[in-house]
Order: sequence, then C-alpha cells, then structure tokens
Amino acid sequence: MNVPFLDLKANYNSVKAEVNTAIQNVLDNTAYILGASVQNFEKDFAAAQQVKYCLGTSSGTDANHLVLWGLGIGPGDEVIMPANTFIATAWGATLCGATPVFVDCHPESYNIDVSKVEEKITLKTKAIVAVHLYGQSADLDPLREIAKKHNLFLVEDAAQAHLAEYRGKLIGGLTNAASFSYYPGKNLGAYGEGGAVTTNDELLFNKIKKLREHGQSQKYYHETLGHNYRMEGIQGAVLRVKLKYLNKWTDARRSVAAKYNEGLKSLKKVIIPKEMSYAKHVYHLYVIQLNDGSLEASNKLRDSLKNYLTENGVNVGLHYPIPLHLQECFKYLGYKKGDFPNSERNAGAGLSLPMFPEMTDEQINYVISRIKDFFNN
Ligand SMILES: *Cc1c(COP(=O)(O)O)cnc(C)c1O
Repeated sequence: MNVPFLDLKANYNSVKAEVNTAIQNVLDNTAYILGASVQNFEKDFAAAQQVKYCLGTSSGTDANHLVLWGLGIGPGDEVIMPANTFIATAWGATLCGATPVFVDCHPESYNIDVSKVEEKITLKTKAIVAVHLYGQSADLDPLREIAKKHNLFLVEDAAQAHLAEYRGKLIGGLTNAASFSYYPGKNLGAYGEGGAVTTNDELLFNKIKKLREHGQSQKYYHETLGHNYRMEGIQGAVLRVKLKYLNKWTDARRSVAAKYNEGLKSLKKVIIPKEMSYAKHVYHLYVIQLNDGSLEASNKLRDSLKNYLTENGVNVGLHYPIPLHLQECFKYLGYKKGDFPNSERNAGAGLSLPMFPEMTDEQINYVISRIKDFFNN
C-alpha cells in the first residue's frame, strides 16, 4: 500500500465540477487579476474567520510582508518570532529591512514560548509574530499582554491555521493583523499561489490595500511606495468554492488526528501532538516527536522510523529540518547550535505523518500498523 503525504487530486475530484465552472466564469469575464471573484472571496473569507477585513494577496509570504510593511516596520527595527517555523515568517521582517529575533518554542505546543519573549525585547523591538504552527493557535493572551506592556504590535502568521481557534474564538482577527497562505497544500489551497491579510483595523486595511497595488488608490497615482501583491481572479474563484467545504475538511482532519492519537498513544517513544487547553487545532500537519533520551539518540530513531515508513510506502515529511536560527541565510545574526533546545528537538526528532481530509481508515490504520511494526521489531 502507498499512502501519500497529502492527496491534492482526491481533493480536486471532490469539488471538480463546481471549481471548473468557477474558473470558466473568470475566463469568460476576463477578470484575471483581483476583480469580482477575489472581492467575493475576500468577503466570504472575512466572514468565515469572523474578522472585518480581508485582502487577497499573491502569496502567504507576500501577506507576511504586507502586514509588517503596513504597520510601518522598517530598517533598524526588530521583530520577535519563533525559531521553529517556515522561513517565510522571517521574510516578513527581512523584506521590510528589519531584523528577525528568534525565540525558542514551548516543548509541548511547539509554538512560541511566551515565557521567553520578554527577555528578547529591546528598544528596537516593534512587533511580535505569533505563528500558529501546524494548525494550533499560539497562546495569544499572554502575548497580547506583553505587546501592550511594551507598546509592540502583535500579529499572526496564520498560514497553517485556517479556522483554528483560540479560547473559543477564531484566529485571524485576534491581533493587529494576520496573514494566511493558500499554497496548494495548505488547509485551504489555491490552484497556484495565493494568500491573504485579515484585520479589524480599518486604517491598516486601507494602507495595506494600497501597498498591495503599487501604492495607489487610483490607477497611475502613486501616493506611497508599494508593490504588486495582488491575488489572481482564478485563485479567488477556486478559493471561494473550496471555502464552503473548509469546515467539513477541518472536521475530517481532526478525525484523522484523533485516530492517530488513539493508535499511537501507547508507544513509549512516540510523543503525539498535544492539543492545548486553549486551542482548537486544525491539523494542517500531524507531527509526532520521537523520544529516545538525548537529542542525538532521538534524531537517530526519527531517521530510522522515517526510512522504515518510506520503504513501506508511507510518505512522511519534516517540518522543518533546520530551525531558522541555524539557517545559512541567518548566519549574520550570530546564533549558534544549542541556543534554542526545544526548537532543535522539534527539528531533529519531529516527524510529520500523512494528513489530509480525504484519508481513509484503511490508510490511517496502515500508517499506524507500520509504526507499530517498527517498534515491535
Ligand atoms: C506556507 C507558509 C507561509 C508562506 O506561504 P506561501 O503562500 O507559500 O508564500 C508562511 N508562513 C508559514 C508558517 C507557512 O507555513
């Protein structure tokens, strides 16, 4: 049996007729960039996330940049963020000319360790980026308190967390602004690149709307600097159709996770993901952590389980193999191995199992059985 890591084809097949019609409509109207399909999607997505404003963008990376750019982050500023995230979180800051400042993650939630944020604040700090990693909300209340105390912006990188909740409220509207990604493999995926910014702040919304389109509110009249970060019409149309099913797909992901949890919880060397008491996890990724004592031993165990599963047709992933503070591109920041032990463990001992809404019980059970075989032999 072969279990894919995710199955975009099965997902497409489940909405094929509707999506094809929506794409055809865009072609017939020749509204290839922004246009009605994007505006309608923005309205629907804002409603789905219970936030006032949404702006469709060319990618999640661009949305990260727009959020910090719109808040006025620039050269000389520092932006605090977790060390264990996808690189695009950091691009938000670097594209503004600012310096990313990394913080270790919490050992259980894998999200930014709120107890380690304040010690990183300097006179240059302007913002904190809370990443809702793997689809689980970061602990926003204490972060909001820290931000308020030190007069900082707090924003969310929600690229992996569509419809995730924090203390019963949908994320995306709980901070100054949030960025989403619609990369095809994300919980809500476009058929190309796409992203969004959400906010409840009307001034910020208007500012980012301008930045998204060449610093103009009227064609060829450029009031501020800007960029081309617009969403394509076809992506808006596709996303609007798929959004209708997102609740159902989220439930399906949660059900896959529950079955994995049940099947794996008795294994002593496997740490299953923990849904924190404050969070409703949407399982963009289902990441286990191997524990065999030291990080070296756990890393070895992780790699041999990874190889075993791969040989047996189970496609797995690493999210992410190198934490940001150890990436070549950030050598200039002067971090070293050992600076962030929880993030390094997350990178060295974590393993992402297949996770997608269309997963069958047969596929889930196959993955669980192969993992059990591995530990029994
Ligand atoms: C996917 C992702 C992004 C970037 O999104 P793109 O649409 O691929 O540019 C940013 N941050 C995180 C945490 C992501 O997972």
